[in-house]
Amino acid sequence: MLLLGALLLACGTKPQPYNVILITLDTTRADYLSCYGSPNAANTPYFDGIAAQGTLFERAIAQASVTPVSHASILTGLYQYQHGVRVLYASSGYRLDPAVPRITTVLRDKGWRTGAFLSAFPVSEQFGFDTGFEVFDNGIQAATDTVLQESGDGRFRWNVARNQRRSDVTTDRAIAWIDEIGKDPFFTWIHYWDPHDMSLKPPAEVVSELVPRGTVGDEYRRKMYAAEVQYVDSQFGRLVEHLKATGKWDRTIVIVTSDHGEGLGDHDWWNHRILYQEQIRVPLLVRIPGETGGKRVSSIVRTIDAVPTLYDWLDVAPEGHIEGRTLLPLMRGEPDEPRIAYADQLNMYDTNANMVARRPNDDLLYCAVDDNWKLIYRPRHPDLSELYHIAEDPGELQNLYHKNHPEALRLRAYLDESGGYVDGPFGESMDEETKKRLEALGYVD
Ligand SMILES: [Zn+2]
Repeated sequence: MLLLGALLLACGTKPQPYNVILITLDTTRADYLSCYGSPNAANTPYFDGIAAQGTLFERAIAQASVTPVSHASILTGLYQYQHGVRVLYASSGYRLDPAVPRITTVLRDKGWRTGAFLSAFPVSEQFGFDTGFEVFDNGIQAATDTVLQESGDGRFRWNVARNQRRSDVTTDRAIAWIDEIGKDPFFTWIHYWDPHDMSLKPPAEVVSELVPRGTVGDEYRRKMYAAEVQYVDSQFGRLVEHLKATGKWDRTIVIVTSDHGEGLGDHDWWNHRILYQEQIRVPLLVRIPGETGGKRVSSIVRTIDAVPTLYDWLDVAPEGHIEGRTLLPLMRGEPDEPRIAYADQLNMYDTNANMVARRPNDDLLYCAVDDNWKLIYRPRHPDLSELYHIAEDPGELQNLYHKNHPEALRLRAYLDESGGYVDGPFGESMDEETKKRLEALGYVD
């Protein structure tokens, strides 16, 4: 192989750049992947395989707990107060400006083919995610008359068949595109939605294996969630096997992460949109051919660090400022500056899911996490802020907050200086089509 490489160089033939696959697992907690080793975990051999061939980040923090905000941070390597997507539903602040560089535009400009294969409306072009993709395939039907269905109670509800799709369909589309483009190097973003709720169940044989008959209530919800995660792994596995069979695997970088987790009953909450670890600690697996595999990193890292890692390894210059920092030193066991991770939820300016009525004290949440400490700051109810020694209390069971606690003061100072605070609602109008779709999704009362 070395000889062949030398010959190619000698002939002036530039080696083909590496393919890049970015997998985002919507609503997927780190601890439900078996490589993260929790008793609740699904059986996820293909994600485990990425960890075995790459690096598993044990404490990766998502920058928000709502889909478009977090995805915009992943794709840009910027915090939300830098890229401008702050909420899912509001008059503005929900769309990624086409002028904001993201991995898609950077790699496209360097010659990669770009394709997105997505699975639900909250990552659609309505939120500005299509910029830079030559193929943007999300399965969302454009015709509004079939997007919504009127229910018996007069409300319009989401036509599920038209606004989301299961991981098997998304995988088929991605594989077909990779075959179609042939030998060209590609960047593809693949987004899986199955665990978001229980409307996209796995096939009956998977459910019957993982959710025993007679399972009810909370146990049913957790087991079905695990079944959905496991099914997604099997679909991702079809993609991996296809790449191996077609000779592309050895030149393909894979990053697996998630936009946020899910409560599943922890801290008395089943969903996302708040900032405990079950919502913001997400899987992050990075597999780069030639880098040492089987590494585990326990330092706090952020999902904004994923894309800068790709730029670093591919030796591609980002466009403009990038906030995230390459993870290559940590992957190689080299010293690296500790990080503070920022996250927020602007629930009072984001009417999705009517969060203020459901959890009035979670109207505005700002969070800072470092290797040892985590602050959840509530500017409208400061005495209800929370401080955890996250290194020793990863389940966030013992709130140590006091306004004069030195660690609270330190992390609060970080938040004060971050530029993340918002002091009023967003201005211009959201278009009617987006509004109707979000209402139908149940995001607005
Ligand atoms: Zn999401």
